[in-house]
Amino acid sequence: MSKLLTVGEVLVEIVATTRGDGFREAQPLIGPFPSGAPAIFVDQVGKLGTPCAILSRVGDDDFGRVTLDRLIADGVDVSGIEIAPGESTGSAFVRYREDGSRAFVYNITHAACGRIDSTPGGNALIETCDHMHIMGTALSAPGLARRAGEAIERIKARGGTLSFDPNLRPEMLGAPGLRDALERVLEQTDLFLPSGEEIFLFTKAQDEAGAVAELLARGIGEIVIKRGSGGASHFNAKGRTDVAPIPVEEIDPTGAGDSFGGAFVSFWLAGAQPQTALAYANAAGARAVTRLGPMEGTSSRAELDAMLASHLEG
Ligand code: ATP
Ligand code: MG
Repeated sequence: MSKLLTVGEVLVEIVATTRGDGFREAQPLIGPFPSGAPAIFVDQVGKLGTPCAILSRVGDDDFGRVTLDRLIADGVDVSGIEIAPGESTGSAFVRYREDGSRAFVYNITHAACGRIDSTPGGNALIETCDHMHIMGTALSAPGLARRAGEAIERIKARGGTLSFDPNLRPEMLGAPGLRDALERVLEQTDLFLPSGEEIFLFTKAQDEAGAVAELLARGIGEIVIKRGSGGASHFNAKGRTDVAPIPVEEIDPTGAGDSFGGAFVSFWLAGAQPQTALAYANAAGARAVTRLGPMEGTSSRAELDAMLASHLEG
C-alpha cells in the first residue's frame, strides 16, 4: 500500500465564540484545537487507514502535545515531527465577522514549524513514502518550502506521485519567492486540487473550461475543483465528473477543503474511480463544516458511509 507524506505547519487554533471584528478587546475564546492545513489533511488520511506521515516541528509545550496526541490517535506517523525545546508551537486565533469572513492573528513563520530543517530522521522517513501532498500554505515560509522541495524531488525520483492543493487566496501571492515555489510544484503535479478561483492562479485562460484544458495540456493528469457549498468536479483526459453538495448545516467551514482533499487522495491512491473518490471527498467536506474546530470534523470510513447512506435515503 502507498504511504503518503506531507510537510508543513502544525498549529493550534483558538476560536472566538462571538462574531465581530477581530481581537482588539478581551473576549471569550475556545480552544486550543489541533490545526494547520497539512495537519488536518493528513489527519483525514490517517482516519481512513491510509499509511501517512507529516514532516513538521512543534515546541515542547501543551499546544504541540494536543496536536501530536490527536494525529497519533488518528493513525498518523508523527516520527517526522521534531519537538524543539525552547521554541513555541504555532498558533492561529480566528474570529468570524457578521458577514461570515474571518479575521486571523497568526504565529506561524516565527514559531517552531516555520524553522523546519533537514534532519537524518526526516530524510529516512521521506525514503519510506511514495506519494507527496503539498499545501500552498506550506510554501510561504522559506524553510518549509525548501524542505518540501527536497521531499518532492526524492519521492518523484523514485517514481512516486504528487498532489497539490494551492490553498491560497490570490492576495497572499505577494510573499517573497512564493510564486516561483508554487510554479515549481505545479510543474511536477499529478493531481491538482484548487478551490474556486485558485484554478486561474496558473493559467492564461480566465474561464474555467479553458483553464482546465490548459492545465491538462501541461501534463497534469487530474484536476479536482472544490466549490464550497456548490459541491465539486473532477476532470481528466476522459472527461468531467460532478458531485452535488450534500445539504448540511454549516457551523464552521474551516478545514472543509483539507478534509475533502485528504479523503480524495486516500481513495485515489487506493485506485478508486473518480466518481467514488469524489463522492467520499464530498461527504468528508460536508461533514467537516458541521463541527466547530478545524480538525474536529475529519471522518472515519464508517462516518462517511453513514453520511452517504443518510443522504441517499433523504
Ligand atoms: P478551506 O477554507 O478549508 O481552504 P476550500 O476552499 O479549500 O476550504 P471548500 O470548497 O470550501 O474548500 O470545501 C471543500 C468541499 O467540501 C466542497 O467542494 C464540498 O464538497 C464540501 N463542502 C464545503 N462546504 C460545504 C457546505 N456548506 N455544504 C456541503 N458541502 C460542503
Ligand atoms: Mg482550501
